[in-house]
Amino acid sequence: MTLIIESERPMEQTQRLIGSTKSIALVAHDNQKARLLAWSQRHRETLARHRLYATGTTGALLGQTLKCEINSLLSGPMGGDQQLGAKIAEGEIDMLIFFWDPLEQQPHDPDVKALLRIAAVWNVPVACNQATADFIFASTLINSDYQQDTPDYDAYLQQRTR
Ligand code: PGA
Repeated sequence: MTLIIESERPMEQTQRLIGSTKSIALVAHDNQKARLLAWSQRHRETLARHRLYATGTTGALLGQTLKCEINSLLSGPMGGDQQLGAKIAEGEIDMLIFFWDPLEQQPHDPDVKALLRIAAVWNVPVACNQATADFIFASTLINSDYQQDTPDYDAYLQQRTR
């Protein structure tokens, strides 16, 4: 039985196949960069099997550390978070590892919020800290196909324009 609360307007869902090779976005705020780099070294073998994206500074540091190809976007405060958000909305990013800093304000806090929001909209898995990232990378799903429930955008648009 599906329980639908009166005021709830559920978004119609469809499915999208996330292949075994995933597009993974990595971002770390300055106080979290060392933590992300140490985490990435521990998971280096797994990371090397996927397509990696990152904001500018994080990407440059990951490239030096992992010696593998990183698709680096702009630095976060210069628009990198927004670029990642756009890629999520366009279905180009399958997972977000985002070690954001919970103890310090960022000049681009609105962009950070927007990135986390759009990842939630599109049901993209997000790790906001090391423990969650460890759990995700320990999952068998990291290296296998996954049928992801995702908003049915065509149905959404149809509903709004009929
Ligand atoms: P950076 O950006 O990788 O360029 O430091 C990260 C962020 O602050 O969003």
